[in-house]
Amino acid sequence: MDEVAMPRSPNAQAATEAKVGPVDWLSSSAEREQLKTAVNERPGALLGPVKVVHAFWLAGMSCDGCSVAVTGATAPSVEDLLIGRLPGVPRVVLHHPVLSIESGDAFMRNYELAAEGKLNAPYVIIFEGSIPNERLAEERGGYWCAMGSETVPKPIPTTEWLSRMAPGAAAVIAIGTCATWGGIPAAYGNPTDSMSVMDFLSQQYLSALGLPVINVPGCSPIGDNFTETVSAILLFLNGLGPLPEFDELGRPAWLFSQTVHQRCVRAGFYEEGTFAEQYGDKECLVEIGCWGPVVQCNITSRGAINHVGGCMNTGGVCIGCTMPGFPDRFAPFYQRPPGTIVSSTTARGVGSFIRPLRRMTMRFQNRETRWDQQQHVPSGWGKVREPGPIEKTVHFFYEKVQYLNSEQPGRTKRAETYRDGYEVPGVVEGASTPPERRT
Ligand code: SF4
Ligand code: SF4
Repeated sequence: MDEVAMPRSPNAQAATEAKVGPVDWLSSSAEREQLKTAVNERPGALLGPVKVVHAFWLAGMSCDGCSVAVTGATAPSVEDLLIGRLPGVPRVVLHHPVLSIESGDAFMRNYELAAEGKLNAPYVIIFEGSIPNERLAEERGGYWCAMGSETVPKPIPTTEWLSRMAPGAAAVIAIGTCATWGGIPAAYGNPTDSMSVMDFLSQQYLSALGLPVINVPGCSPIGDNFTETVSAILLFLNGLGPLPEFDELGRPAWLFSQTVHQRCVRAGFYEEGTFAEQYGDKECLVEIGCWGPVVQCNITSRGAINHVGGCMNTGGVCIGCTMPGFPDRFAPFYQRPPGTIVSSTTARGVGSFIRPLRRMTMRFQNRETRWDQQQHVPSGWGKVREPGPIEKTVHFFYEKVQYLNSEQPGRTKRAETYRDGYEVPGVVEGASTPPERRT
């Protein structure tokens, strides 16, 4: 049977069935995948031995913000993964409690096949939200987070699905800070006794491919961080890429090894010791609550969606949402972190010396040579102040150092002749002489 999708109309369904035989349109998507002709026998088959990978989304104590963030990813997008558009990356069949078009028994059948080892295809688990202690809920006859039920209407906790499916998964990916470290549900008080996927599965856990839990933190995470990590893992799974580098906490190292401060659009203000006093100011936000210098996050360079937005880019402070210590160790939010007393005071001291020197150099670099010779800037937009004798003296020595052991380029001589005969005439004060070509 060729690849078939849910028919748009009864006529389309009849036409398809006339070609490929009876199809159970209400079967689960995993079962439909099993009915298809082996992908590598189809024209234009994807590169690599693995053609299809199932992605099982499970949600614990979550706000669904991670799902929302991922649907905004653009590089690559979820759609790229679902249609197998990326060379070498297997096509992804996504089973998601909100986004899947199946529901009820057909939807749950996918999870059962994976848990029973009957999927006949590799799969990854993506867990969003933290893991509550279901025993606490059970003691009172309830549950925290569940999906599907067995013979009686007793819901099956998503943590139970994780326990059943994790041993056979090619990889378990925790998405968002709740799943990676515990996050807000595990904050002070923690009435549900919540914990991270890593804590739940323990240090001994290894996936079927031998990988510990992979962590893509953020509250919410950057969608592109997640889809890029998934693509890198799938390329590895397909034997077409190296195992991506992860740090000691299972974060993609290439995304989380630098602090948000190191790539912040406001870092230059910090370096020169100028700081915002209120929201809306353009300077560094550290004195009104930014934790960026100690937080590993790439949002200032990657943006929130499609390289647009991101905390400091749009005027917000960093509250450390990617970090294991979030939220308790970054509270109270929007107050100056204690460490800034040392660092921003030092930056202020150094900046007060460096800043005037830079401004002076900037004023000279903002001048054309002719304007120096004429001692006048012919701008109709405003009066440009001429440098005073002290500035000229400092700049004179600055240029001496700048061109030490090298020839100073530019129109510094009264006249210059180039090898092709082109002559730059000397500039007479107050006059603008057009260049001439010698014959
Ligand atoms: S706003 Fe935050 S991250 Fe940006 S330079 Fe200031 S302290 Fe660093
Ligand atoms: S800059 Fe800070 S608050 Fe913003 S996403 Fe990164 S870690 Fe979270």
